[in-house]
Amino acid sequence: MCDTAKRGTLFVYSGASGVGKGTIMKKLVERDKSICLSVSATTREPREGEINGVHYWFVSREEFDKMIDDDGFMEYATYCNNYYGTPKKAVEEKLAQGFNVFLEIEVKGALNIIEKYPDCVSIFVLPPSFETLEKRLRLRNTETEEQIRNRLETAMREIKLSEVYDYTVVNDDLDKAVEDVLSIVKEVTGKE
Ligand code: 5GP
Repeated sequence: MCDTAKRGTLFVYSGASGVGKGTIMKKLVERDKSICLSVSATTREPREGEINGVHYWFVSREEFDKMIDDDGFMEYATYCNNYYGTPKKAVEEKLAQGFNVFLEIEVKGALNIIEKYPDCVSIFVLPPSFETLEKRLRLRNTETEEQIRNRLETAMREIKLSEVYDYTVVNDDLDKAVEDVLSIVKEVTGKE
């Protein structure tokens, strides 16, 4: 469980689209109850099966702008023509409750967080190869060809920036990648 006596650690968690970071994340929260995932706001359309308030807060552009004006985001960025932002209040509350909060965000937002919150711990998930990434993205079958190309170009730029992260984890084998992230959490929080 989370340690309510101690403030939790803020984790920045990134990886190219299709790398499997969402699947790893799902297993992380099942395995370690001190970990919780921040739910971002986005102007992107929900994909099939995505639930408002669980996967994202799906908002209009106007609602997003209002949250910016109200200083409601820790960071926000555009990614492939949509807006994504991390709600500040919810993350602060979870950290105060002792949870280790993961922000699953793209690199521009991540670089902002790393600068603003120097105590955060950053993890980047890498694909075993660029070809594997392209294959996974196509198999997922949730984007148009143009969107896939756009995401692959973005992925190439993002992978180049992975060197600014504290840790990189290669998602070759899912269970191994989950173990690797759990070890990082244990190492930096000093908990078994
Ligand atoms: P997707 O559309 O595939 O759900 O997400 C696209 C990208 O936006 C992913 O890299 C995801 O991690 C990132 N993302 C999700 N939420 C946020 C956020 O709140 N802020 C930022 N900067 N990126 C986000």
